Parts: sequence; C-alpha cells; structure tokens
Amino acid sequence: METMDGLEVHDCERCPALCESRSRIVNGVGPADADVLFVGEAPGANEDEQGEPFVGRSGDVLTETLREVGLDRETVRITNCVRCRPPDNRDPHAEELENCRPYLDREIDLVDPAVLVTLGKVPAEHLLGRSVAVTKEAGELTDVRIEGEPRRLLVCVHPAATLYDPSQKETFRSALESAAELVGGREKGSDGQSRLGEF
Ligand code: URA
Repeated sequence: METMDGLEVHDCERCPALCESRSRIVNGVGPADADVLFVGEAPGANEDEQGEPFVGRSGDVLTETLREVGLDRETVRITNCVRCRPPDNRDPHAEELENCRPYLDREIDLVDPAVLVTLGKVPAEHLLGRSVAVTKEAGELTDVRIEGEPRRLLVCVHPAATLYDPSQKETFRSALESAAELVGGREKGSDGQSRLGEF
C-alpha cells in the first residue's frame, strides 16, 4: 500500500470522481492508540476545507455529546470510510468504499481500539457487511471480524440525524454513553442517501 504512511494516506488516486471533487485527503484524527475509534461516512464540505473529520455541525454535535458522556474529543480517534469528499455530498459508491477499505482496515489494525463506533448507516453496513436499521440497532454491541481479528462494534446513528430529528438526540447520546461505559468513561493513560456531508 504505497500511498499509506502509518495512519496517513497521501496522494491516493484510486477514485477518479473523488479526486475531482476533493480539495484534500481527510485522514483520521486522534491518538494512534485510542480506545474508541469513531467511523463516519465521508468528509463533507467543512471537513474537505479543514482537513479533519467531523468539524461541521455534525462535528459540533459529536464533540458536545462526547463531553456530556465524559469523553474528550481529543482522546478518541475519528475517521471515515472514505477519505475524500464525494461530489455534492452524495453517498460514497460501493467501489469507492472498497477502494478506501484497505486504509480503514489498516487504521483499525494499528489503533486496535477497544470499540469501534459507527456513525450512521453507511459505516455500519460497510463494516458489518449486512443491512442495518441504525435507529433500531443504535447502542447495540456486535462482535465482528475485521481482517481476521475479532472486534467489538457499537452501532450509532449519525450526529446529523439529531439535527434533522431532535428525537434522535437521546438515541445518539445513549449510544455514546454505552461507548463511554465500555472504556470506563475515560481513555487509556488518562485519569479521569443521506447527504450527511452537508452538515
Ligand atoms: N459526516 C461524516 O460522515 N463524516 C464527516 O467527517 C463529516 C460528516
């Protein structure tokens, strides 16, 4: 994988449409040994501009809700299934998800988190390999094998869902609370067709 250096992808040109639509590749952020790895769908406009996942309105919801459940955004790792902004914030195509999958698998392998938390339908279905009713399954912990390794995956609704539908706020918070409980409410070494990209 000549275009990946540790956790960072550079110069990838596997998806012609995404090379056209992106300003930059948006790699994951957060500690390389985080206990919790959040996986979103793909960068939106804000992420494409700033080069960091979840920095728009969805990111504000994520950051604030993490704080509410006792997790600091700086202590978790946050990444996406696809690292380049799709045109018009469309969902990533199956081929694009597959092209970017080795980078995600490598990130999961290197970070080796205690729990993966999928934000929305696309990452849940991508990592579980089946259709997922995210609202119904939010907060459920599932065992899954990724690259042969057993992983714990917690399904969660996308933070943007709470902006469309305030009744999803509790579903979102409760799933994050479950993630926080799984890692003891703190991090290692610490004391203490959705067009979701529009957000
Ligand atoms: N939505 C996502 O799925 N990922 C981001 O990084 C931002 C919004």
